[in-house]
Amino acid sequence: MPHLDIGTATWALVGAAVLGPIVAVLLAVRDRQRVVSRLGNLEDVLRRLRASEPGGNFDDRPEESSLQLSRERVILQNLLDRFPEVTQKFVTVDTIEALGACLLSAFERVLECEFGVAFVAEGDRLRNIAQMGMDEGECYPGMTIDMGKGPIGYAAQKCLILRPDDFKALDDEDHANVENYRSFRREFDFYVPLVHHGKALGCVAAGGMKRVVQKAHSVSMALANLGALVITNIQRAAEIRVLSETDPLTRLSNRRHCYAQLEQRLRDRNTSPFAVFLMDIDHFKSINDKHGHAVGDSVLVAVADHARRFVHPAEGEFVCRFGGEEFLCVVNLEDLPSLAARLESFREGVAQLRVHPDDSTPLTVRVSGGVSFCPAECEDADSLIRLADDRLYAAKESGRNRICFEASAREVLR
Ligand code: GH3
Ligand code: MG
Ligand code: MG
Repeated sequence: MPHLDIGTATWALVGAAVLGPIVAVLLAVRDRQRVVSRLGNLEDVLRRLRASEPGGNFDDRPEESSLQLSRERVILQNLLDRFPEVTQKFVTVDTIEALGACLLSAFERVLECEFGVAFVAEGDRLRNIAQMGMDEGECYPGMTIDMGKGPIGYAAQKCLILRPDDFKALDDEDHANVENYRSFRREFDFYVPLVHHGKALGCVAAGGMKRVVQKAHSVSMALANLGALVITNIQRAAEIRVLSETDPLTRLSNRRHCYAQLEQRLRDRNTSPFAVFLMDIDHFKSINDKHGHAVGDSVLVAVADHARRFVHPAEGEFVCRFGGEEFLCVVNLEDLPSLAARLESFREGVAQLRVHPDDSTPLTVRVSGGVSFCPAECEDADSLIRLADDRLYAAKESGRNRICFEASAREVLR
């Protein structure tokens, strides 16, 4: 019946309007008390919070009930449904700094925080990656905090989500560590660690909440877990990139990365003239044959280290392991005589390297090299390398232990 339906709906609305805020406050108080009531003994707090609060990360707590994990998933699902524009950003960020900004904007939007800071862990320090609503000079990109020190460092080190009152219950030593190293005079509402596999990857502190938000504690932990997963992905992607670009024996760039760097240098419109110096160890096979592969490896590492010291990366120079016992350097070119003198001193430096096989006198290592010039000769990577290789071949043909600037081997430095 229509009037009964309206009456029911009206009562439901009135009930929701009156009871909703009361329930919200009660839930918030209960959330709050869940943490506060446990305080007293820090070890107890740590143990219980780790075991029962939403925290840590999804695959880190096999002993926890699937109920706990599914609760976190429900919270995340709710966040995805209610704040798609916020949560979707987490999927697309690809730098740690962007992730920091993304986390803070999530705290702003979902928990209605007015200000906050985000830090990433780097060794025993935390580095600032983002800030929101902070005063000028109060917080700056790259600012660092010691792990374990101040509220932010403490929450990160203990992998605990903490609120201001929680710090009051700490023992004297921990209390001093928190109070004596505060980086910010203002108090935040939450200090939320970003944790993955029990390891602190960072910490977010947010405050100035404009209203009581239901399950704020769990929601901030869910956001932090999301952030921790994203940091892990970004860090793994960076590790994979480094692995894919690095030669494992010498730790120099590998051939693939060499091409990328050379092409990058060629694309750079402001690039200054440079030379491609391709070198190859003389009679390397006989070193392997006579002293064994391990000694051959030591020779490669010694030559690689010498080449690494030779180039100036800050000026756009680089070196890579181009092949088995071949190395390629890109070096800046001011004038031919000074380049020739520099390369000659490199070659002499190699001849002075001493690699000690276990059972015999030190080996003497020699290299031959070929050089090509950009832009004077050509402007693409393949042609530059081919020309340098022709001249390397000429250096080998004309007796080795020399660097050749022309395929005819007329201009040879010894
Ligand atoms: P040349 O003076 O003409 O350059 O003669 P070479 O003996 O140096 O050149 P060759 O091409 O005959 O031999 C190169 C050797 O380098 C053969 C290969 O087994 C060895 N080699 C390639 N990569 C490695 C490595 O990573 N470690 C070791 N120990 N040897 C390697
Ligand atoms: Mg060789
Ligand atoms: Mg070779």
